[in-house]
Amino acid sequence: MEFQTIPHPAPVPGETRQQAIADPGFGTLFTDHMVEIDYDEAKGGWFSAKVGPRQPITLDPAAAVLHYAQEIFEGMKAYQYEEGGLALFRPEANAQRFNASARRMAMPELPEELFLESIRQLVAVDREWVPTIPGGALYLRPFMFATEAFLGVRPAKQYKYLLIASPVGGYFKSGHSAVKIWVSRNYTRAAPGGTGAAKTGGNYAASLVPQAEGIANGCDQVVFLDAVEKKWIEELGGMNLFFVFDDGTVITPPLTGTILPGITRDSLIALLREEGLNVREEPYSIDQWRADATKGNLVETMACGTAAVVTPVGTVVGPDGEFTIGSGSAGQITSKLRERLVGIQTGKIADSHGWVTKLP
Ligand SMILES: *Cc1c(COP(=O)(O)O)cnc(C)c1O
Repeated sequence: MEFQTIPHPAPVPGETRQQAIADPGFGTLFTDHMVEIDYDEAKGGWFSAKVGPRQPITLDPAAAVLHYAQEIFEGMKAYQYEEGGLALFRPEANAQRFNASARRMAMPELPEELFLESIRQLVAVDREWVPTIPGGALYLRPFMFATEAFLGVRPAKQYKYLLIASPVGGYFKSGHSAVKIWVSRNYTRAAPGGTGAAKTGGNYAASLVPQAEGIANGCDQVVFLDAVEKKWIEELGGMNLFFVFDDGTVITPPLTGTILPGITRDSLIALLREEGLNVREEPYSIDQWRADATKGNLVETMACGTAAVVTPVGTVVGPDGEFTIGSGSAGQITSKLRERLVGIQTGKIADSHGWVTKLP
């Protein structure tokens, strides 16, 4: 599909942009452009691909997404690459996961090549927005929602795909230091047969009250337990977890349908195995976590995702009080893995996996 390009009539002036991307924060600053592609079943599918000024969109008040939440998204980053140019990290995996989410939410798939082309198009017009500060990147947010004006309950026949971009620095205000985690007992995130493995806004909506509860209790993030036994550790609101033991074993919860299959998670499994660690995808319980941390054979816990990369979990606040992981700050494996992953993403370390896609 050909993209129509509509340059912004009044882009942010260079000096203002430079100032803004020197300290971008997370998710509040946006680039000049966006990509928009429409879908209509009656027109035979996807049509009208545009890259144009980022601007408000109009929606019919009966648009299905506003009533029944047919919506999915992705999160990925474009990095300044060591040898010049930019780089994407495993963008095909995002394209595939976008379509897996679409299938679960009864939405049309977007051809992978069209997804990837949208990324290339937006990064090309907004490449001056990529921060050069350490840890900085251009966060890319592809998303799709039902636009059909219809209040009956069935999959919509019209959708919009949009791609926006946000220059970002670190995700947590605390930088790379360890986060404090709240164990949610009153709320769960996803049940078997539900939408936990889809990247859909509803999962996040459901996590906001427990997240607020965690913050009210002095924590940064919430860890969710399984919805059936309220025993097995699943993931954070938007990050997967790894548990590192003193005997070189690493456990991460298995992908049983209630956990989001993180691309960072998948990459870390590979990197940990290359480090000679014995990674096992198996259930791990909250009681065992506490016991192992207290005994000291559990030495590190890390949370991972595109936004916050690899973040150490320092303290856990559960119903039976608090416990600390290792020294309460970033452990050796966590720091090493973070460095390796960021090194590959930014070209400081050779990409032996073919994970990196170079862009001009
Ligand atoms: C996006 C997301 C992750 C992390 O996935 P990455 O591909 O590593 O960014 C983990 N959990 C949830 C719930 C998510 O939405």
